[in-house]
Amino acid sequence: MTAQPPGRPGSTGDPGSGRRASPAPTPRHGHHTRLDAYADRYATRTLGMTASEIRALFSVASRPEVVSLAGGMPSLAGLPLDAVADTVRDLVSTNGVAALQYGSGQGEPVLREQICEVMALEGIDAHPDDVVVTVGSQQGLDLVTRIFCDPGDVVVCEAPSYVGALGVFRAYECNVVHVEMDDRGLVPEALRQALARVAGTGRRVKFCYTVPTYHNPAGVTLTAQRRAEVLSICAEFDVLLVEDNPYGLLGFAGDPPRALRADEPDRIVYLGSFSKTFAPGLRVGWVLAPHAVREKLVLAQESSTLCPPAFSQAVVSAYLSTHDWRGQVKQFRELYRERRDAMLAALSEHMPPGASWTRPDGGFYVWVTLPEGLDAKAMLPRAVTARVAYVPGTAFYADGLGSRCMRLSYCHPPADRIGEGVRRLAAVMGDELELRQTFGATAGRIGSARYDSPSPDVS
Ligand code: PMP
Repeated sequence: MTAQPPGRPGSTGDPGSGRRASPAPTPRHGHHTRLDAYADRYATRTLGMTASEIRALFSVASRPEVVSLAGGMPSLAGLPLDAVADTVRDLVSTNGVAALQYGSGQGEPVLREQICEVMALEGIDAHPDDVVVTVGSQQGLDLVTRIFCDPGDVVVCEAPSYVGALGVFRAYECNVVHVEMDDRGLVPEALRQALARVAGTGRRVKFCYTVPTYHNPAGVTLTAQRRAEVLSICAEFDVLLVEDNPYGLLGFAGDPPRALRADEPDRIVYLGSFSKTFAPGLRVGWVLAPHAVREKLVLAQESSTLCPPAFSQAVVSAYLSTHDWRGQVKQFRELYRERRDAMLAALSEHMPPGASWTRPDGGFYVWVTLPEGLDAKAMLPRAVTARVAYVPGTAFYADGLGSRCMRLSYCHPPADRIGEGVRRLAAVMGDELELRQTFGATAGRIGSARYDSPSPDVS
């Protein structure tokens, strides 16, 4: 473990200036240093990059005796590994020289065509020339933010929002304005009000970032009627939408919801990924963007990685063309539906009165609001001691709200472990509630379950 510097725990610099004079580093265990000798050299944006306080707990949470309802790792046990191995062997022996070479900055043309076929399942009519392959959709988020945002620029996001997107927005020093959601997704009227409020300050919203389908972390899906409203509000305010859709094909009933991009070819940047439908380790995602934006993205991609990994792209491409990948996605959907059912059943059985939760129609996550008075972040160490882990809601807000909420994921543990995890969690919550009754309201900090700040400060 890296040693804490003296003074404030977790702090590596002078709290006033964010900088400190560099003392001589004290070597520990060969390579760790006691103080950050480089603190006075970092760029301003680096000062905002801090490890989360819950990271240390997660190293404990990954022990086998802990049921982790925290991570978002897909379950890969069902992947046809023998078939994938054959695909990789054939690829190397028949096409290894190309597959192991540098590739195009935009991504391989054949894969970009296949990506258009994947997106057609969500109603998107796209041209391969408007697709840029990225290192996961996470890199797509990074590149999009890099080409649009200067420090202080406003990005509008759902409340709560994907933690990895908030990390990117923080790294580029964006000003995040959260907009309320409910069980039908982003609330259009709240979006309209937020856009009007920002416009009223004379600022420009650089884009609105949304996960409309099987939301991470909220587990809700934007209804068809609201999709039309959101598109019309964005058109009215001339705001770019970034539609992040890694879970779109992982619905539990019927056809995938129609993507926002299907009904609006302009003013939308769409992010997709093979991480949840095939394998995250390959790190292959993509961005579909209006042509001019696509050109900037390719330049940004080239300066970032020269080209997305040719080998990973070749594996994905061969997998899509030689394997029944639609059948595989169907199997994943059935597996996750079974786990979702196990989680919802366990929540109904064990949660104390006053708790409520969302009922996802797809994806990996349930968003739980705790009974009044409980604080998910304060409770986490006790939960981990009771051998269950989750992510406190505060991780999904740029402004510290969400303490009365938590994200539970059902994607990775088998159904019986999910049931056991929820039972342990409910027992911890019961103990906490009892403590509060005994010692009064000071036993836990009261947080907000709902994002309802009427006037986010965008100045
Ligand atoms: N967006 C969302 C909403 C996600 O949940 C994730 C992964 N958890 C990503 C983007 C990034 O996925 P990847 O980079 O693996 O494509």
